[in-house]
Amino acid sequence: MAEEAIVNDGSVQDQWGQICSQLKNEVGDTAFESWLKPLSLGSFTDGVMNICVPTRFMRNWVITHYSDRIHKIWEKKNPAIKNINFIVQAARDEAPSLYNPTSRSLLKRITSTPIPQNIYQSGVNSVVANCNSGLMSDSLSVPLNPQYTFDNFVVGKTNEFAYAAARKVAESRNISFNPLFLYSGVGLGKTHLMHAIAWHIKQQDPSRNIVYLSAEKFMYKFVRALRYKDTAAFKEQFRSVDVLMVDDVQFMGGKDSTQEEFFYTFNSLIEEGRQIIISADKSPADLEGIESRLKSRLGCGLVADIHPTDFDLRVGILNNKAKQLGVELPYKVAEFLAQKISSNIRELEGALRRVIAHAQLLSDKEITLDMTQDVLKDMLRSFDKRTTIDEIQKKVAERFNISVKEMQSSRRARTVARPRQIAMYLAKQLTSRSLPEIGRKFDRDHTTVMHAVRKVEELIIEDSSLAECIDSLRRSLEA
Ligand code: ADP
Ligand code: MG
Repeated sequence: MAEEAIVNDGSVQDQWGQICSQLKNEVGDTAFESWLKPLSLGSFTDGVMNICVPTRFMRNWVITHYSDRIHKIWEKKNPAIKNINFIVQAARDEAPSLYNPTSRSLLKRITSTPIPQNIYQSGVNSVVANCNSGLMSDSLSVPLNPQYTFDNFVVGKTNEFAYAAARKVAESRNISFNPLFLYSGVGLGKTHLMHAIAWHIKQQDPSRNIVYLSAEKFMYKFVRALRYKDTAAFKEQFRSVDVLMVDDVQFMGGKDSTQEEFFYTFNSLIEEGRQIIISADKSPADLEGIESRLKSRLGCGLVADIHPTDFDLRVGILNNKAKQLGVELPYKVAEFLAQKISSNIRELEGALRRVIAHAQLLSDKEITLDMTQDVLKDMLRSFDKRTTIDEIQKKVAERFNISVKEMQSSRRARTVARPRQIAMYLAKQLTSRSLPEIGRKFDRDHTTVMHAVRKVEELIIEDSSLAECIDSLRRSLEA
């Protein structure tokens, strides 16, 4: 038997980091946070890579949903990895889960284990940050997705204006519009365009300090600064920013103190001639819960919207994506997918990935229309029947034997509060509603929803019977 090698080898750890960032793109933030972020590397013996999973329930879930994919990606990167084994065990001290730097156990480890400082610098997504080699050195920023470039952005009638505006901002030496405000429904390319601008600017002038972050992260950072009475340091972080990009500002709705701080940051950067790029799900005037002076500031540059995709753009995107993945996509299949999945591009890409993974896992089976229809049966059925928050509330209330009225009430007893949190969590997972929109359905503000989502994510890890209960609720809602 070969000697057990504890994985502190940079290369395997690096590969894991890259795999995590790839999976995060593939499965989306929520699934990644729930199922993959808690994994950590264990030992590597005889070609078998051990991955630690906190609970048995999670292990089963990860094996059914992600193990093939993880294996496939890893095998490509490192042929020495012959097999992957999932073991139920809390993260090992030698191999901290790089994706979980805020967990209590890891915080403890930071003080006891000498780990290179840069691993922790940019918070949750630190590994991806490392992949971006020096790009987002500021800890405010969230890493950029290397796939989100102008080259990978397919232009069609519905997005050509936003694309042209983004290119103009990226290419101009002088500021032409400030701020650039991009808006659209979900999954139509706002984040992609923002990252593309950042990559482009950085390529032309690596010295420029670009900060890209979500409004949720801005809020989180600000609230934390308030809690630790450290707002001066928070403000200071923005002083040297050349380009500030804030994604999904609708999440600031109803959060007055954050908006005020953002307004201040926004104005001072604009006054100093720095570029600001904002995205949201609605036009500035239609944003809910945003102060009117901020709305008017947001709308005073160039406002560009991305319309829902048309058939041609969807086919174009599918072909482009298939080409990137080195796969031949028959026109009939592209046509079928583009007809069936018109809601948003993220879902379209997800469907394509599923078809490709299927074809590859079944020893390079050819992609055909029949096979596509078969693989996507469940997914397409769920498109026909979208889950609503009302249904979620009803199902969860039934399961816990309370009424929907109680769930929406202000009662804080655990018997009511826990089901309420679970319903909020499921609403975030199963619908495309924003946090404020979910909040309104429960007569709460979006921070309560955010808190509930985090709480339930923690509970899922700690309590496998609750995790199973939530999973069965999810399945019954999706059925
Ligand atoms: P949004 O931020 O508007 O919710 P994203 O930018 O996250 O949407 O886009 C969702 C997915 O669709 C991403 O994987 C992105 O790369 C892809 N995408 C969106 N628009 C295009 C496009 N025009 N060409 C290629 N890919 C696109
Ligand atoms: Mg986005």
